[in-house]
Amino acid sequence: MAYLTYIVLAIGVVAAAGLAIGSASVAGALPMVGILLISLGYLAVKAELSWRQTDELQRMRNAYDQLDRQAKLIIRTDLELHRTQEELDRRLASLMSLYHLGQQLQVSLRPEEVFQKLDASVVTNFGFSTGVLGMCASFESLEWRSAIGVTPAVANALRALFLDRGLVKPVLTGPAPRLLQASSAANPEERKLLELLGVPTAIIAGIIPNSGPTGILLLGRTGSVANVKADEELVAILTNYLAIAVENSALYEKTWSAQRELELKVQQRTQELAEANTVLTRLNKAKSDFVSAVSHELRTPLAAIKGYASLLATGQFGPLVKAQSERIAKIEKHSDLLAQFINNLLDIARIESGRVTMERRPIPINDFLAAVQDVVTPQLEAKHIRFSVDRDGVKELVGDSSHLQRVFVNLLSNAVKYTPEGGSIRVGLVREGATVLATVTDTGCGIAAEDQSKLFQEFYRANDPVNQQVRGTGLGLALVKRIVEAHQGRIWVKSEKNKGSTFSVSLPLE
Ligand code: ADP
Repeated sequence: MAYLTYIVLAIGVVAAAGLAIGSASVAGALPMVGILLISLGYLAVKAELSWRQTDELQRMRNAYDQLDRQAKLIIRTDLELHRTQEELDRRLASLMSLYHLGQQLQVSLRPEEVFQKLDASVVTNFGFSTGVLGMCASFESLEWRSAIGVTPAVANALRALFLDRGLVKPVLTGPAPRLLQASSAANPEERKLLELLGVPTAIIAGIIPNSGPTGILLLGRTGSVANVKADEELVAILTNYLAIAVENSALYEKTWSAQRELELKVQQRTQELAEANTVLTRLNKAKSDFVSAVSHELRTPLAAIKGYASLLATGQFGPLVKAQSERIAKIEKHSDLLAQFINNLLDIARIESGRVTMERRPIPINDFLAAVQDVVTPQLEAKHIRFSVDRDGVKELVGDSSHLQRVFVNLLSNAVKYTPEGGSIRVGLVREGATVLATVTDTGCGIAAEDQSKLFQEFYRANDPVNQQVRGTGLGLALVKRIVEAHQGRIWVKSEKNKGSTFSVSLPLE
């Protein structure tokens, strides 16, 4: 089009030039053609300009349309972004509520408490306006423990609806959580439920722990549900939280009650033991009193027997033949043994019943050992037993000298009794902190392991053939133990059959 315009214009220019040259001399057709062509050229230029303008206009319109479309897109995207942001904020708020709820649930010590923990902030942050949380002991029972945005009357009506129409079981056994919508509510019960809550949509879910009571959560929303799937997921997390908390607190309650039961049992048994102990102490005292009384009664006639035997032995009542002297000597010997036996019995009974108070005095060790040695030397010599003492710098004992002498005399007499001729006995003394440890070691027959724990009981004699030849009553060690314990000391034995024994006595110095 532009070329045509230029051609017409060129012809016009040529014609105009011709017109100028021949205007004066030749008047004819040529100038007319020039004028025509100029006009045509002018028109063509005009048309060209108008086309160009239309073209420009069209391009501008196109550009404007495009801008308009882009602006609309930006607005739409912005709206979408805004909505997504809102949704994200809501999710964040609900997650925060979930976190806080979780913290509160951790300190619930009883399952019932868990059902009281639904509060307004949880309901609103989850995007709901009303909510009820209840505990079900069975499919036929339901107790609301939390009600948010719901009046007591509505809560009662909801409970009645659940129980009358048997709605608890389907919630606790069916798929959960479930969305209820007034527009598409499947059955009249659900419609009624939404009607009572006064909302168009709600989510219902069961709380089903592995142990502990189950429950129902019902959340109602006044607006429409934006993202059903996301809401259901959130509620599922919430109900899981609640179920775990119920389970934990049920376990805690179980453990606590088991521990309480155990404590009560221990208390009961302790009480029983204390009572049994009182009875035993009473019986023991009765036994000691009895032994004490009997021993006392025996001592008087025994003293008389001994006295008469001694008198007869002096020959005051006429000369004695050898056989008579021998019999009288036997009477005296046995009377002595019997007297010793009775004395031991009496002393055990007295110490047990606390009627003997032990003195607590420093006892110089040299004098003490000399006194003990005086008693046992004849026995040692009679059996040719080597005897040694290692006192390791120990200078004194603390206690009742005469009673402690009986301890050492008894232990040494036993050592002599149960050690064959030519054996050896050693007394050791060593200071150990605030105590003195005294040991009596022999190379005698030793004591079987099963007898060792029973040696200190009254009348106990080891089940050993040796005891058929060695006389004894089984009272010596029982008395020794009581004297040592009355000094707050300890006594024990270590022994090996046919190798020898060591009796150890630990005595406090303070
Ligand atoms: P007994 O009068 O029988 O010696 P004890 O109470 O003194 O009574 O001793 C109890 C039992 O302990 C003894 O019968 C004996 O079997 C055992 N026994 C005590 N000391 C020794 C010892 N040094 N060696 C071996 N057995 C001993």
